[in-house]
Amino acid sequence: MRKLLKKELKIYKEKLLKLRDEVSEEIKSLSEDVLMKTQAEASGDISSHSFHLADAASGNFERDFSLGLASNETQVLREIDLALRKIEDGSYGICEGCGKPIPKRRLDVLPYVKFCTKCQKNLEKQSP
Ligand SMILES: [Zn+2]
Repeated sequence: MRKLLKKELKIYKEKLLKLRDEVSEEIKSLSEDVLMKTQAEASGDISSHSFHLADAASGNFERDFSLGLASNETQVLREIDLALRKIEDGSYGICEGCGKPIPKRRLDVLPYVKFCTKCQKNLEKQSP
């Protein structure tokens, strides 16, 4: 397998930049959502009309869910930044596990992956 061409790197860079925008927006709206709910709860807006324990519980669940999503997205954002840095230093598209080029069809789906399919599988086997 050959290394990526400059032309191809440029395409991945654009993909990553676009993805970074999308993920940033996602995180922003998730955080605003959580913030709004938290403020509403704190000021008692939610409880003023019909307060039920079940409602409060599901509110918490939703908030935790949003927070979980936001932290996943933050992780993705970090991976994207790392990938962009790799494009700059010329190590993009190389598996961090075995040092071989990551197949393009894999990069097409997940432009910020760090491992080839084989190394990824090995990693997943190791973690519980
Ligand atoms: Zn590998």
